[in-house]
Amino acid sequence: MDEWIDEVIGVGGAFARICGDYEYRPQQIEMAIAVAEALNERRHCLVEAGTGVGKTIAYLTPAIKHSLGGKPIIVSTHTIALQEQLVRKDIPLMHLALEDTPFRAALVKGRANYLCLWELDRAREDITLQGDPLFEKVLAWVGTTETGDISEMGFSFPAWSEICSNQDTCRHQQCEHYDRCFYYAMRRQAQSADIIVVNHSLFFSDLGIRTLDPRSAILPDYDVVIFDEAHNLEDVAAKTFGVEFSNYRVPAILNRIRKRRDIAVTASELEIIDSANKRLFALFKDTDKPEFFFEEIFASPKRRIEIMEAAEELASLVDGLNIQLSEQDTEGNETLARRIEGFRRTLTGIREDLNLLFFRDVDNYFRWCEKTSSGKFVSCILRLTPIDVSQALESSLWNTVSSAVLTSATLSNSGKFNYIKSRLGIQSNTIELILGSPFDYESQALLYVPNDMDFPSEAPDYAEQVADRIEQILGYSNGRAFLLFTSYRMLNAVYDILKDRLPYKLLKQGSKANEKLVEEFRKSGNECIFGVHSFWEGVDVKGSALSCVIIDKLPFSVPDSPVNKARCDAIMSSGGDWFLDYAVPQAQIRLKQGFGRLIRTKMDRGVVAILDSRLLKKSYGKEFLRYLPRCRGTSDLEEVREFFTRNC
Ligand code: SF4
Repeated sequence: MDEWIDEVIGVGGAFARICGDYEYRPQQIEMAIAVAEALNERRHCLVEAGTGVGKTIAYLTPAIKHSLGGKPIIVSTHTIALQEQLVRKDIPLMHLALEDTPFRAALVKGRANYLCLWELDRAREDITLQGDPLFEKVLAWVGTTETGDISEMGFSFPAWSEICSNQDTCRHQQCEHYDRCFYYAMRRQAQSADIIVVNHSLFFSDLGIRTLDPRSAILPDYDVVIFDEAHNLEDVAAKTFGVEFSNYRVPAILNRIRKRRDIAVTASELEIIDSANKRLFALFKDTDKPEFFFEEIFASPKRRIEIMEAAEELASLVDGLNIQLSEQDTEGNETLARRIEGFRRTLTGIREDLNLLFFRDVDNYFRWCEKTSSGKFVSCILRLTPIDVSQALESSLWNTVSSAVLTSATLSNSGKFNYIKSRLGIQSNTIELILGSPFDYESQALLYVPNDMDFPSEAPDYAEQVADRIEQILGYSNGRAFLLFTSYRMLNAVYDILKDRLPYKLLKQGSKANEKLVEEFRKSGNECIFGVHSFWEGVDVKGSALSCVIIDKLPFSVPDSPVNKARCDAIMSSGGDWFLDYAVPQAQIRLKQGFGRLIRTKMDRGVVAILDSRLLKKSYGKEFLRYLPRCRGTSDLEEVREFFTRNC
């Protein structure tokens, strides 16, 4: 295998021949060899590969060789956008490089990404869509698309949920469109592929299904799985193995039923169910906190009784509607029968989730509520989430595949993988490798940490301090910055202080879709993005448009958020230390992600400023600094000014 790796990505190898600007990277070879060893020895492998190592090609090179003639290898990444990048950029490059070694790759997304031809026929009969110019565009697109994949549509169609493939109405082989069905065509393609590209969410949904009934699995059988962006696995697994019940879920099915004139349910009957749903969620919505445990709201016995009564009322109305639909005469009307069957399946799913959320004891899970608002819409999601996914993953995944490879630019903390392994339930005998970035951070980057600022606090004058320091730094960088915050509260406070003081355009997360903000930022000369959470990772801006990353404070997660609290309580009850075993490692990984936004190519230059003096003054702060990319550090703003003058 080592010879093969050398032939593909070594000096003068296939990649060097096909890519004029290909650079030999010893770290990439080292990673490929470690992955090959894991596959051959049937072991699990964890690799942290710094920015610029080229980890995708590093794992694809041995994976493709290993998959040929055997079971397919699953490559799972965090988002659909990253799946697309793999399939449209990296895999075509591999095809070019391996022209004498053909292999087949398939892209597999969740059902709702594919158009359903049966639903499309029903939509054609819908008078509200007839003459709709967007629907006409959909019809024209259907005539040309080979995949039926929404990402290829090139425009958005608001009623997509009415025409996409869905479990409820799909009749599989019994459907008249089965042979031409986009969703099943994708699954057939996956059956004969060597490399199957999925996202973590779909992977864990499939894992849940195959654990209960392997014959119903979406993916073909596999022995090897490679997780890219593996630092996200715990959160995605917890979400997928749990229950999610939003205030829009019941109204969505009621609206679908309401539209059917041939269903014998009156508008007022549906209205009664809608009102019951509103009553239930109103009891959760009138709290100030954006996230809270059910127990917090149940602390009031009166409120607990009100909620349980509202949940019972909703559950019994949903049951009633389900029975009412089952009694509808569908004789001779196949479409109606199928539609009703679909509605009933959806109602049964709603009923099961209400049971789990309110009426059944479920060990090792916690119930909580999450509220978000966007304009006048308040979304409220009731969740049942596993406290710990390690045991479930150990038995259903790590013990069943011969080899799992986990990789990311940020997977270790304090130079080890102990944290990620314990969170995910991965036992010993793993191959482990930490590879630094091939970039020269010593000359490309400067780290600024102030030693004269207060420790971060909620005090209003602290936001003033942060804003003043940001203003000074941006004066030297001439804007061109990502400002990464750990909370919306701080982001808004600093934004409000600076919005009329700075001469640069300030782009605030939430004002537009993230992709649009980044696109505008890339094109601009000196704009600044104010972001939280999603801007800390996965955003790639090369060149001088991004010359400065300012982080408001160490990214410890909110300690009293239900997810963190439940996990920390579990750690403490098993004798662990929630701060050192959970909060610090998680924040170390997060800080590396934020830092990693700055240098994306060997030409990039810039400053990372972390406005948190705990890095210098607390004992744990040094541990954070030790494992950031090695570069020059300073607490002197004059050095920051000089760095920008000389380099950017
Ligand atoms: S097989 Fe299912 S998804 Fe495919 S067209 Fe028929 S109903 Fe739609």
